[in-house]
Amino acid sequence: MPGTMRRAIYPGSFDPPTFGHLDIAERAAGLFDELIVAVGENSDKAPFLPVEDRVAALEECVGSLRNVRVTSFRGLLVDFARGQGCHVLVRGLRAVSDFEYEFRVTMANRRLAPEVETVFLFARDEYSFLASSVVREVNRLGGDVSEFVPEAVRRRLGHSV
Ligand code: ADP
Repeated sequence: MPGTMRRAIYPGSFDPPTFGHLDIAERAAGLFDELIVAVGENSDKAPFLPVEDRVAALEECVGSLRNVRVTSFRGLLVDFARGQGCHVLVRGLRAVSDFEYEFRVTMANRRLAPEVETVFLFARDEYSFLASSVVREVNRLGGDVSEFVPEAVRRRLGHSV
């Protein structure tokens, strides 16, 4: 539709952001006029990185792309999307193992907000094994995570071992 701004949200915990997340954000930014990278604040679980650090690290990495904005949100994703006037959610898929969870969340979001579509981008193969949970574990055990996360994230990691 000419004259219509195509705005999308890439939501996630990003705890911490990895090269896989950055790749999805960059590719999504190339597909839409505007991309909001939205860091979810989940208050019932203590985060690995505080939400401000996740937002700041993502801003350092993708905030310089002219059509990307990074922010945090609380509560229901579909409410946040509606508040932003946004009808597209972007998610990444790594392997078949991601499918079931993503399918359930997508169907729930569709019930809650039928006007919001979720689109999926497949992970690049070099990042298809990469998960925030692996980074947390490697970091906890004192391993080098420089293959997995950018310097903006590494700088913010504590070593708990
Ligand atoms: P969640 O929002 O479920 O807590 P994450 O914050 O880890 O998950 O990830 C946000 C989105 O990015 C999800 O759609 C997830 O599948 C996707 N993602 C995570 N890691 C990668 C990766 N290495 N490559 C591509 N997509 C990824």
